[in-house]
Amino acid sequence: MSYTGPDFDPPPERRSRRGPLTVALAALVCGGLLGWGVYAATGGTDDKGAGAKAEGSPSAAPRTPSPAASSPAGSASPSAEDGTSPAARTPSASAPAAAGPLKGKVVVIDPGHNPTNAEHTAEINRQVDVGTHRKECDTTGTSTDDGYAEAEFTLDVAHRMRALLQRQGATVKLTQDRDRPFGPCVDERARIGNAAKADAVVSIHADGSGAGNRGFHVILPGPVNAGEADTRAIVGPSRALGERIAGNFVRVTGTAPSNYIGGGTGLVTRKDLGGLNLSTVPKVFIECGNMRDSKDAALLTSGAWRQKAAQGISEGIVSFLRG
Ligand SMILES: [Zn+2]
Repeated sequence: MSYTGPDFDPPPERRSRRGPLTVALAALVCGGLLGWGVYAATGGTDDKGAGAKAEGSPSAAPRTPSPAASSPAGSASPSAEDGTSPAARTPSASAPAAAGPLKGKVVVIDPGHNPTNAEHTAEINRQVDVGTHRKECDTTGTSTDDGYAEAEFTLDVAHRMRALLQRQGATVKLTQDRDRPFGPCVDERARIGNAAKADAVVSIHADGSGAGNRGFHVILPGPVNAGEADTRAIVGPSRALGERIAGNFVRVTGTAPSNYIGGGTGLVTRKDLGGLNLSTVPKVFIECGNMRDSKDAALLTSGAWRQKAAQGISEGIVSFLRG
């Protein structure tokens, strides 16, 4: 793997006991989401199961109207495909939560890395305590071969998720929004979710693995009790959150779980990530795809696909929070 960031050290070999059916079952279970009426009403999931799309060119996706584009709110226009962030036309982070099924719920979105981390190598290389060990504050993240940075991808997906979740009534906070020169450090990223007393936290990433390695995976916290880290109380709910996200991600994006990690389940457990180890609230990471694979890169660089990714993750969160 070309990716050497501290939060994405080559994960320990682990064979999951779960089979591919897990995700398929989760997709079925979560398929009948209540309270996501906008998408159901507008046929937003018409293209669910279009697994072939993952194999097609990116031009296949943009021609499909995004669910949000056809929603009454119309917050995402077809121009989303141009790759521009929808942030400017979405509610701000400080906007009052709308009435909706998630009213009173707090969701923290953690866009992995930071677009200007590379200009602050001394700061991000500072060691921080993650309970089990010390590691770098943060990393630059990976990029596609054409130079689309993971840190831009994570912010774009986070903005799209924020709009979707605020529309459901949730209070949404981002750990960073291009509003600081670097970081936050991985320990602070965890503490932001803790301080917000978040009901769910999702850290957004894209992987930097070898060409041919494809698909998404959700990273769950393993049981850790060392130093400041004690994940024992969040392992269970985090798994529930991760399973809902994986199932909905498959259903909405039509893309398959990772073919290189997780044994086909789309789920991986790790105990070396500070962002998970130090969390006291349900939290998972998602690697939405592999930026170093050309076919995955075609998806990750598509605004239409990112909208689906944001929708899949968000619907997983909604499903988890509604129980
Ligand atoms: Zn990352």
